[in-house]
Amino acid sequence: MLYNFGSINLDHFYRVPHLVHPGETLTSRTYRVGLGGKGANQSLAMALAGGRVTHWGRLGRQDGWAKETLSRAGVDVSRLELVDEPSGHAIIQVDDRGENAIILHPGANHGFKTATLAQLIETARPGEWLLAQNECNGLPELMEHARSRGLNIAFNPAPMTDAVQTLPLDACRLLFVNRGEAARLAEVDEATDAQSLLTTLAQRLPETATVLTLGGEGAWYQHDEERFYQPAIPVRPVDTTGAGDTFIGYFLATLQTGASVPACLERAAMAAALGVQQPGAAESIPASEAVDRALR
Ligand code: ATP
Repeated sequence: MLYNFGSINLDHFYRVPHLVHPGETLTSRTYRVGLGGKGANQSLAMALAGGRVTHWGRLGRQDGWAKETLSRAGVDVSRLELVDEPSGHAIIQVDDRGENAIILHPGANHGFKTATLAQLIETARPGEWLLAQNECNGLPELMEHARSRGLNIAFNPAPMTDAVQTLPLDACRLLFVNRGEAARLAEVDEATDAQSLLTTLAQRLPETATVLTLGGEGAWYQHDEERFYQPAIPVRPVDTTGAGDTFIGYFLATLQTGASVPACLERAAMAAALGVQQPGAAESIPASEAVDRALR
């Protein structure tokens, strides 16, 4: 079993003629709400990839449909806490030029209590995997509990914040970072080449394997003396939102099957490449049949 300690956000999209000005009341042309949050996206990707995943998260009781959506995709939601608080949500304006402006309210994602985290960790067995991103509170406690329980921690420090530098990252077995996250973690310029980024991260965290994703330039895996490169699959992207989430979910779910790292990278890259050819984030994550057909 793979556990994902992750955010659940409701993304409210408003199509507007222009981004609202100070003091203005603007009528939107369309409205749509979708499931989002890096945590929920990565759980969906793992389940669609065929992995067994339990989502640890918090959601406002009034938004049970989000729980249903995760459950229908095959995510175990039995540990999801329904609370009398607003769910994490984003108010997203998109104008006619495709520009956007977003208000993000973390809501229930930031309401974890230390005692609950300890209880959750106790339900996992030593050697099982725990995935986390940077959208929920309680990460220092979670990582320390998970370390002492003997869990394999995979961490995606997105969205990157200064607080990430103070986390016990040496407790992590695997880090998933994009170029910007890697540069901030390594405390180097974003223009630094991938090889130097990997070397600096390995010096800082010698026990931790790193997966560095570079958008259309592919992805690297590094651990000890081992380095593997996976080129991006050449496609015409329509919307790259959530590419990283799809990649991470497919990589981890494939790793659970005992597949080699290069095989995990290849399946993750194919899943992400199919995803970027569709609009949206969660909606664009492909099913395993499509990914495995494309790999043949
Ligand atoms: P996001 O924050 O939007 O989820 P990210 O920055 O975490 O994305 P990226 O590095 O952009 O993640 O992309 C992850 C992986 O997705 C890449 O390593 C690549 O395999 C695939 N990918 C991303 N963009 C493209 C593209 N334009 N064409 C093909 N594959 C892509």
